[in-house]
Amino acid sequence: MDLCHRALRCRHERLLGTHSDAAPILWQYGAISRLKKGEVIDKLLYGGYSTLSLGYAGLWECVYSLNGKKLTEPEGKELGLKIMKKLNEYCAKWKAEEKIDYSLYGTPLESTTYKFAKCLQKRFGKIEGVTDKNYITNSYHVHVTEPISAFDKLKLESEFQALSPGGAISYVEVPNMQQNIPAVMQVIRYIYDNIMYAELNTKSDYCQCCGYSGEIQIVKDDNGKLVWECPNCKNRDQNKMNVARRTCGYIGTQFWNQGRTQEIKERVLHL
Ligand SMILES: [Zn+2]
Repeated sequence: MDLCHRALRCRHERLLGTHSDAAPILWQYGAISRLKKGEVIDKLLYGGYSTLSLGYAGLWECVYSLNGKKLTEPEGKELGLKIMKKLNEYCAKWKAEEKIDYSLYGTPLESTTYKFAKCLQKRFGKIEGVTDKNYITNSYHVHVTEPISAFDKLKLESEFQALSPGGAISYVEVPNMQQNIPAVMQVIRYIYDNIMYAELNTKSDYCQCCGYSGEIQIVKDDNGKLVWECPNCKNRDQNKMNVARRTCGYIGTQFWNQGRTQEIKERVLHL
């Protein structure tokens, strides 16, 4: 935590003395504030106007490595919530001492998921259920391979999301729902009633070679590399297909590194 704090302070100190002219739309024309030309942004770095985000990810793996329980089990959930509360306590302590707002942020680790996973494997070896994947679980999320219903997942994750005030998103994986709009509405209603920010992940890929519309698959090629393949015509040319997936919080249409691709491949459906 000391190391994290120092890193956040580096960011704060780097920003001190920045002139509003660096980004007039943000600082002068109202997107963030209405400072004068030549004015420094310093006063906005204190007193809750802005926050420094303490990011965390892999709560699932963390808990599993500590007590061998899943976040979906009572003892796992209890420890997970305890860890989250502790992280919030640090933020509150720093904030009280420095008048700088610190907030806990559920890090999705877009492509960093692969880099971090490889670093952990190098440092600790391959530990089953902890470092044996080429990705680390997004923030407090239930592991993508864990079978759980959409409603149970949203309900459980809502408790963790409440402890992630600096930002977080939950989502559930769903099949093609075009023929079942009432079910979509039911999930949306459930989200509205139970969790602040959550989404449905669906697939609407397109193969430019054969016109297939649906889900382009991830398969292993002869070298063991994960590649995208049209299930209809077996096209594997990434330049001739359109694939869209919610990488983390945003939906990406580029292609992803091997770690993130593995994570996407292993996602189970929740509906
Ligand atoms: Zn095709």
